[in-house]
Amino acid sequence: MMRFDVLTLFPDMFRAVLGDSIIRRAAEKGLLELNFVNIRDYTKNKHRKVDDYPYSGGGGMLMAAQPVYDAYQSIVKELDHKPLTIYMSPQGKVFDQQIAVDLSKEKHIVILCGHYEGIDQRVLDMIVDMEISIGDFVLTGGEIPAMAVIDAVSRMIPGVLAGENSYTNESHFNGLLEYPQYTRPEEFMGVKIPDVLISGHHAKIEEWKHEQALKNTYQKRPDMLEKLTLSEKDAEFIKTLKKK
Ligand code: SAM
Repeated sequence: MMRFDVLTLFPDMFRAVLGDSIIRRAAEKGLLELNFVNIRDYTKNKHRKVDDYPYSGGGGMLMAAQPVYDAYQSIVKELDHKPLTIYMSPQGKVFDQQIAVDLSKEKHIVILCGHYEGIDQRVLDMIVDMEISIGDFVLTGGEIPAMAVIDAVSRMIPGVLAGENSYTNESHFNGLLEYPQYTRPEEFMGVKIPDVLISGHHAKIEEWKHEQALKNTYQKRPDMLEKLTLSEKDAEFIKTLKKK
């Protein structure tokens, strides 16, 4: 069982997206627990304000330390462990499949979502263990990034997907993009699926899948291939693609 607590000003955004499909079923099966804490519920401001002007000026508002700190304390005060606390931030380490795999081994993760111009640095220094970005661009809030992380991490938890094959074959898991896939019918608008897939020859199908994964990666993400140590056979195969 893995537990996520999300600190956010917009908990309903999560319920709309994660309250369905595979993630909901994982929660129902007891593999996953998702809690959403509304930071606004913890503000001591009498107008329920959670933001204020930054001392540095420059326009925009900043989330104040007090509501974030108290919302965080509401989660940790009764725990006998310190959950891994992640701040979604464009300044963080860029999220990838390896980080998703590593995070899926954690028992309890707290995710903090910023809004406006971000969050008072003091509370970040007090509670955050790591910052994660979902790419080199800036969004209005950490909610969409947090949902991406929760989704990618949750499907790595044993039992959430139908079988381990569902993700070990997938793009990025082994440094390659996935091969193309086909479902019925065998012929669609005159286009047939590759013959090898109905040959019944298991080893040939595996070889085809691997070569197609290499080809896909070579054509779409050559930068990924450069990071791999290829077997001689794979390197030869890539050479034949280069000649084409
Ligand atoms: N002023 C901040 C800066 O320049 O680093 C950006 C604040 S951004 C407008 C508001 C919030 O959105 C951030 O606190 C963060 O939680 C979230 N956010 C924006 N872009 C993100 C990204 N690429 N990855 C993860 N979170 C992001």
